Amino acid sequence: MRKVLISSFIGALLIVLGGIWFLYGNLEVDVKVPPSADILAAKETIKLSIETNKATPFTKIKVFIQQDNKTLTLYEGDLQNREIEEVIKTKEAGFKDGKAELIAELIFPFHKEIILKKEIVIDTTPPSIDIVEKPRRLIIGEPGVVAVKTSPDVDKVYVQLGKAKFYLLPFKGNIYKTIITAPLFLLKKPQNYYVIAIDKAGNIAERFLPIQIKLKKFHQRKIYFDKETLERIVLKFFPTPDNLLEKFQKINTKFRQEADKKLVEICKQSENRLYAKGRFLQLPGSEPTAYYGDHRYYYYNGKLIGESVHKGIDLAKYRHAPVVAANSGRVVFTGRITVYGNTIIIDHGYGVFTLYGHLNDFTVKVGEEVKKGQVIGHTDTTGLALGDHLHFGVLIWGYAANPLFFFDGHYLNYYFYKPLLKQISP
Ligand SMILES: [Zn+2]
Repeated sequence: MRKVLISSFIGALLIVLGGIWFLYGNLEVDVKVPPSADILAAKETIKLSIETNKATPFTKIKVFIQQDNKTLTLYEGDLQNREIEEVIKTKEAGFKDGKAELIAELIFPFHKEIILKKEIVIDTTPPSIDIVEKPRRLIIGEPGVVAVKTSPDVDKVYVQLGKAKFYLLPFKGNIYKTIITAPLFLLKKPQNYYVIAIDKAGNIAERFLPIQIKLKKFHQRKIYFDKETLERIVLKFFPTPDNLLEKFQKINTKFRQEADKKLVEICKQSENRLYAKGRFLQLPGSEPTAYYGDHRYYYYNGKLIGESVHKGIDLAKYRHAPVVAANSGRVVFTGRITVYGNTIIIDHGYGVFTLYGHLNDFTVKVGEEVKKGQVIGHTDTTGLALGDHLHFGVLIWGYAANPLFFFDGHYLNYYFYKPLLKQISP
C-alpha cells in the first residue's frame, strides 16, 4: 500500500515537473530594440519586437525604462510574439536628461528574470541655434550665405523655405554654412526661411531666419507656334505627332515637373569643400538668347496653350560648339532629363551646382573632378530645344538661381566668397 502511495506521489511529481518543463523548458525570448532607442528625446516613438519560441499564458513580460526610482512601462502583458509601437513622453514622465536603463523582465508565477538591460540616454533639450551670418535681403534668383553655430550634439541642420531645403554643411567645429537662394516659386507664393536643427535624440529646434525678399519683374514673351514647329517638338518625345496639343501640354507640364523633381534629387548632396574660384564662365564667345525668369506664353492658332518660366540662361554659339565647365567642381550627373535632354550637372561645393542642357555628348564621367574652362561636351538640340544652344543653369540645392550673379566677379567676391570662406571662431 505504502509503495503504491510513493509511486503515485512520484508519478504526480513527474507530471508536475513535466508540465513545468513543457511550459518553461527551452524557453527562448528575445527583445529586439532598434538603435534609435539609444538616445530618447522628449517625445519619441519606440518600436520594439518580442520574439519567443513558447507562448504561455502563465508567463508575462514587462518592458520599461528606469531612471533612479522612476519607471515608464512600454509594454506589460502575456509572453507571445508581438510588435510594439509606443509613443512615450520622457519629459512628462519626470525623467531627467542623462543616463537611464531599458529593461525587459520575464515574470513567472514564482519569480522574475531580467532578460535585457540596456543603458540609454535621455536628452530632452533641443539643440541651440545661433545665426552667425545671413543675407539681409535677397532678390529672386540671388545667392546668399547662411552660417549658424549649434550645440555639439546636432545631427542635421538645414534652412527650410516652404518645400525647399538648403542643407547646412559642417564648416569648422560647431559652425555650419550653406548657400541659399530666393527661388522663382516665391513669385507665386511668399514664404519664410527657418533654420531647423535636429539632434541625435530627435529633438527639433527651429529659428526664424529674417531675410527680406525683393520680388523682381522678369521679361514676358509670347511665342507663336505653327503646326510644323509643334509637331517637331512633340516628335522629340513621342513616336507620332497625333493629339498635338495634349502631347505638347504633357511635355510642358508633366515633363517639366519631372525635371524639377529630378534636379532636387540629384542636388541633395553637396561637398563641404569649395571647388569654385573666381567668377563663373559664360560659355566663351556665346550670345544669350533667353534669360533667367523669362515668362513664356505659348500660342497656337491664336489660343494660349501653355506657359513656362525659364530657369537658366540660353547661350547660342554655333552648331555642336564645345561646352566648358563654368567653374571647377565634381561631375555628379550625366544623362537625359526630360526637357533638358542630355544634361551634365557639376557640384561646386556648399550646394552650388551648374547644369548644362540640350547637349550632344559628354566628354566627362560622373565622379570626375573638372577644372574651370575644361571641355565637358558639345551643344545640340536634345530635349525641349529647337535651335542648337546651351541651356546653362545654376542650381542651389536643386533650385534655380540667376546665372547672371555668378558671371559677376565683383559681386561674387563680396557676397559669396567672402562670407563663405570667412573664419568664425567655433
Ligand atoms: Zn533654356
